Amino acid sequence: MKPIVAIVGRPNVGKSTLFNRITRSRDAIVDDLPGVTRDRNFGDARWNDKAFTLVDTGGFAEGDVDAFAPHIRLQVEQAIEHADAVVLVLDGKGGSSPFDTDLIQTLRTVEKPVFYVVNKIDGEGQEKALFDFYGLGVDRLFPVSAEHGYGVAGFLDELTDGF
Ligand code: GDP
Ligand code: MG
Repeated sequence: MKPIVAIVGRPNVGKSTLFNRITRSRDAIVDDLPGVTRDRNFGDARWNDKAFTLVDTGGFAEGDVDAFAPHIRLQVEQAIEHADAVVLVLDGKGGSSPFDTDLIQTLRTVEKPVFYVVNKIDGEGQEKALFDFYGLGVDRLFPVSAEHGYGVAGFLDELTDGF
């Protein structure tokens, strides 16, 4: 069985964009409106000759994050249960939120590899946006640009290292 990697995080952080880049597909629906990923979406991925299944999560209607927090949390819990590794995507442009702190708290209790990705870092010059996230107490942050590809290769090297 191929390893399963779940992408989780708040709406609009770029989960589907990252999914599409890694699976090289346009299957996940990307939109400027938060929460347009209609359901869990599975895709085949391959890196360094290692095959894995990527899961994009979403599936909640538009609305502010508080209203959907229980739904997102449930998805995270399901994703954790079924995945071999979890990728939490954070928004390098929007900054961290209390909801992220909450998710990280949950992910700390998980005995599976968890990767913390700060997305929307569209180039080296934007890495200073990472400072906002060091306070979250995460050992290692991966700055990436799902849209432009910055940092994604290095992240995938680490992600697939144990596969
Ligand atoms: P999701 O709700 O987490 O699946 O987020 P989406 O993938 O649908 O992306 C939400 C918005 O963020 C869209 O407008 C994307 O174009 C934008 N976005 C995603 N990745 C990046 C990135 O690396 N850089 C920038 N600047 N914008 C991004
Ligand atoms: Mg999405």
